[in-house]
Amino acid sequence: VSALLLDGTALAQEIRAAVAKDAKKLRAAGRPAHLAALLVGHASASEVYIRNQKKACKETGIDFELHTLEEKAGEPEVLAEVRKLNADRAVTGIILHQPLPPHVDARRVRDALDPAKDVESMTSHNFGRLVMGEFAIAPSTAGAAIELARHARPDMTGLEAVVVGHSEIVGKPIALLLLQSARNSPTVAVCHIATRDLALHTKRADLVFVAAGVPGLLKKEMVKPGATVIDVGINRVKGADGKFHITGDAAPDVAEVAGHLTPVPGGVGPVTVAVLLRNTVACALRQSPAR
Ligand code: NAD
Repeated sequence: VSALLLDGTALAQEIRAAVAKDAKKLRAAGRPAHLAALLVGHASASEVYIRNQKKACKETGIDFELHTLEEKAGEPEVLAEVRKLNADRAVTGIILHQPLPPHVDARRVRDALDPAKDVESMTSHNFGRLVMGEFAIAPSTAGAAIELARHARPDMTGLEAVVVGHSEIVGKPIALLLLQSARNSPTVAVCHIATRDLALHTKRADLVFVAAGVPGLLKKEMVKPGATVIDVGINRVKGADGKFHITGDAAPDVAEVAGHLTPVPGGVGPVTVAVLLRNTVACALRQSPAR
């Protein structure tokens, strides 16, 4: 193994320490950061994520409240709940758990969020600002992937970067965030399911972001020696022992050629939660009269 493992847990601790300081200031000013999570129906993956969010908020001094609606809730009911949270002055941030039930138009609901409370940059308004290079709040998984990459490669000027995956919540925002800086930006290629020859692109990259949700998609022979590999994938796979394990999108032997690699678990995951907390205090600070 040659790759230096990028420790997401340690970076997450650093971010959380800074968040806790801001959360304390907000509380002292009488306007604590307060994250409202909205869950419609019962998605088990969301429920695990929500438990982690609740714990992380508590540990950093952010108030957290879960609002749930029945699976059968209609779109007007979901929109009414969003508007109620928008209007509630105690609520400084809102996170909408996805997927929403199929009978609800997810885009319409996301766009009903008050952009000032949109801690995940889900609204077209905030996503548009990201496109314009004006972002302040990055979607947390994409923000975490960039944070880890910049930690390993502070100077990305002129490097070649490849993003594997082009979803709205992960792949596209990673590509946009890489292009934020006028000079300190790599050249960015975005690959996806219709890419003809994935290895052709990954092999020439100094930075590989893999976010496809396909275990072992990125193989050793597809990686340039010394490249920085940020593995965003979270896959639950059954091992030879019959037990389920969490693995990423990079095959284990990628560690033999990469220069830096994020482990799964313990890489992007913990940093994602820390970035969500940071986004939450950033939104609260902007709404605070004491700022
Ligand atoms: P998605 O299913 O919405 O998108 C997958 C993307 O990968 C698409 O752009 C698709 O075209 C591409 N893709 C699929 N198979 C491919 C292939 N064989 N070759 C090339 N491209 C391919 O998934 P998502 O929501 O973007 O999530 C991606 C991964 O990231 C998943 O494993 C998910 O669990 C994980 N994830 C992690 C975090 C975290 O905090 N670490 C957060 C969100 C998602």
